[in-house]
Amino acid sequence: MKEFSVRTKKKQDMVDITGQVTDLVKHSGVSDGVCLVYVPHATAAVVINENADPNVCQDILDALARLVPEGGWRHDRIDDNAAAHIKATILGPSEAVPVRGGRLRLGTWQSLMLVELDGPRDRTVIVDVR
Ligand code: ZN
Repeated sequence: MKEFSVRTKKKQDMVDITGQVTDLVKHSGVSDGVCLVYVPHATAAVVINENADPNVCQDILDALARLVPEGGWRHDRIDDNAAAHIKATILGPSEAVPVRGGRLRLGTWQSLMLVELDGPRDRTVIVDVR
């Protein structure tokens, strides 16, 4: 199991982590198996989607903002980030990707994205290949 850090730059952001994960898969020595990508955070998530057109990522963040408006949630009385918790719960903290021939079996238009929902912060990504 390996980890790496990502420093996010905005309150809400999507950071392409496909390159870092691809390197860890390459060095794992696993030819055929599965790669788990997980973030140990309550206000961040991992998703797989397109990053060729960066507007896709912005559209996803905008859609989440429409779905979960800021303010008025019970948890906002604690640290004012309830919407981030709810969005992170909807997206989930992990993805599992098949490994075939020592490579992530992603589709042409798929990238692994860390989703920051309450940044900017330092985030940890845990990768387990087996
Ligand atoms: Zn909170």
